[in-house]
Amino acid sequence: MSGPTSGTTGGTTGATRWNERPLDVAEVDLGPGVRAGFSSRAGGVSTGPWAALNLGYHVDDDWDRAYANRSILGRWLGAPITMTSQVHGSTVAEVTRYQPNTRRKADAMVSTAREVGLGVMVADCVPVLLADAEAGVVATAHAGRGGLVAGVVPNAVAAMLERGARPGAIRAAVGPSICGRCYEVPPGMRDDVEAAVPGTGGTTSWGTPSVDIARGVLAQLAEAGVEHVEHVDRCTYEDERYFSYRRDGVTGRFAGVVALVG
Ligand SMILES: [Zn+2]
Repeated sequence: MSGPTSGTTGGTTGATRWNERPLDVAEVDLGPGVRAGFSSRAGGVSTGPWAALNLGYHVDDDWDRAYANRSILGRWLGAPITMTSQVHGSTVAEVTRYQPNTRRKADAMVSTAREVGLGVMVADCVPVLLADAEAGVVATAHAGRGGLVAGVVPNAVAAMLERGARPGAIRAAVGPSICGRCYEVPPGMRDDVEAAVPGTGGTTSWGTPSVDIARGVLAQLAEAGVEHVEHVDRCTYEDERYFSYRRDGVTGRFAGVVALVG
């Protein structure tokens, strides 16, 4: 299904200036008329630590290449992608039209507009995509430790319900993130997160305290009544197909993207 489009048609600058490699997007089914998936490192035009499909403008990559990469992923999605400035909070921004390079601070987005792409950037945090195809509502959430505790995922679901979605009709996809065997934290931090979201505290594969953010997200979705959940259960820290901030430090960002299309 993924269509690496060589020979740009979007009228965007950039993507034709560099060699563009095939995309590898993990597509997820969030219902009829909804296009959604999680990108990987594959398919873009960035080089070095950002190779190749870096989508972040804030990670010291060449801005034009990051812009071209967003255009490439937008073509896969079938809609230009709006991304916010993510601050590990719980604010939900409504997006009614494409907003390029927005500095709007929000860790979740909701939209009822067709062909308006929403994108959540990550490199270890948990990207969450949501859709109620029947009601015509889509949403994203960026859940790191802070967002999980602050409730960004239930807030995104609530914003959907305010726009006509029903919990039983919502489909969710939880994307690649650092797993509970790899995400080491200080003991006090593990205890705090475990207290806020029970079931998240654990131990790394090397025996130190850890947090399992994805597990917490899945619990919060269940609590919100969202039963149809797909987990693309790949660990960014272990799987080099993905950017991992914890593993690499200077690195790019991949994304979960969703749009009402067709
Ligand atoms: Zn792992």
